[in-house]
Amino acid sequence: MRIGEMCELYDRPCIGCGECERCDLDPEKICDNCGKCLDVKDFVSIKIDKIYASDEEFERDKPRKK
Ligand code: SF4
Ligand code: SF4
Repeated sequence: MRIGEMCELYDRPCIGCGECERCDLDPEKICDNCGKCLDVKDFVSIKIDKIYASDEEFERDKPRKK
């Protein structure tokens, strides 16, 4: 709600309708920032075996060519 300012959704001054505060998934609900509408399917995870603290440490552990 932006009374006294421009509307977040439409090209008009805010009339206090409250539409911008409604949940994107459930129009009966006021958004409580639960995060359920955020699409997290693009995230992936990776497993990190070790973090080297210095170049020297990395060089020491680096697999040697045979
Ligand atoms: S959607 Fe309604 S309450 Fe929200 S900024 Fe626009 S006019 Fe105001
Ligand atoms: S954060 Fe939650 S309540 Fe807000 S719009 Fe997204 S799903 Fe709805």
